[in-house]
Amino acid sequence: ALTAGIVGLPNVGKSTLFNAITKAGALAANYPFATIDPNVGIVEVPDARLDKLTELVVPKKTVPTAFEFTDIAGIVEGASKGEGLGNKFLAHIREVDAICQVVRCFDDENITHVSGKVDPISDIEVINLELILADLESVDKRLARVIKMAKQKDKDAMVEEPILTRLKEAFEAGKSGRSVDFSEEELRVVKGLHLLTIKPMLYVANVSEDDIMADDENEYVEKVRAFAADEGAEVIVICARIEEEMAALEDEEKSMFLEELGIKESGLDQLIKASYSLLGLATYFTAGVQEVRAWTFRKGMKAPQCAGVIHSDFEKGFIRAETVAYDDLVATGSMVAAKEAGKVRLEGKEYVVQDGDVMLFRFNV
Ligand code: GDP
Repeated sequence: ALTAGIVGLPNVGKSTLFNAITKAGALAANYPFATIDPNVGIVEVPDARLDKLTELVVPKKTVPTAFEFTDIAGIVEGASKGEGLGNKFLAHIREVDAICQVVRCFDDENITHVSGKVDPISDIEVINLELILADLESVDKRLARVIKMAKQKDKDAMVEEPILTRLKEAFEAGKSGRSVDFSEEELRVVKGLHLLTIKPMLYVANVSEDDIMADDENEYVEKVRAFAADEGAEVIVICARIEEEMAALEDEEKSMFLEELGIKESGLDQLIKASYSLLGLATYFTAGVQEVRAWTFRKGMKAPQCAGVIHSDFEKGFIRAETVAYDDLVATGSMVAAKEAGKVRLEGKEYVVQDGDVMLFRFNV
């Protein structure tokens, strides 16, 4: 499964946020495997469409789709040189598909800041620099080999050399791999390098209890926003402490709590949604009377692959899919009405499934 890693300097609120995630996940009874790895927290992906489908179909059971966060503790300045848990830390980041970087945007004299003062941009730069240095090292090593091979007219090496050189220049200028413009073809080569700074990044601004209720943003958040905009990255503002309190509440209590705070959606829900879309994930539904359920797929996946998300036999024996777009189903009011209105399509192996499709797979066993 695709996962987003949570990183950040010490004392910025990572554990508090991760606690909120595991508490919220513990309530999600559908995912008993949530406790296997203590560093992985599984949460349900909030989706109002699933509630609507449940209203329409009135199934025995409704099952949301899930998403995994991985807690990656232990970054300190010098990690790329192996300081602290440096190497282990970087190895863990290599395994995740996107990075959520928690940034401290709250003042609190009682909580020490590693560098002595709250300064979100300098914090971000410390972490990003460690990742850049690690990438520079990988690229340097590879480049030495690739240059030799390119001299011997190795075709792949000749394609790779200029790409590596551009990356090296970016890293040496303190820039991430993300900031370099590559063509789609070049990107395929870049992906094979397993770099850290090419992974999509989301900044999580952790603000105080008071600031989360204020309409105006605190100046730390404004700075983070400006920095992220420059990189084309997204920012989510949360108060990790409040999220931790809220995660233990049942849905109804949670809504009341949010209303009291004057917040529409919990920070955790926003974070889940943003991470999900950052990873290029989308949702299709199955809607039978036994079960209405949301399933995660990668944008661009075709019908048989999507069927394979449910069970590998569904992919192997795939014949066709009956498909109706969520909006069409809701507009017509039922599967029968949607059929009568000609909104239910028969789709074959080449159909690229769309976010919100309601699917019924036909397959051979
Ligand atoms: P980590 O080292 O990044 O995992 O940070 P922790 O989650 O352990 O948090 C460090 C300290 O900051 C703890 O005392 C938390 O209670 C506190 N803290 C975390 N989030 C918030 C927050 O949103 N507001 C305030 N005031 N304190 C927080």
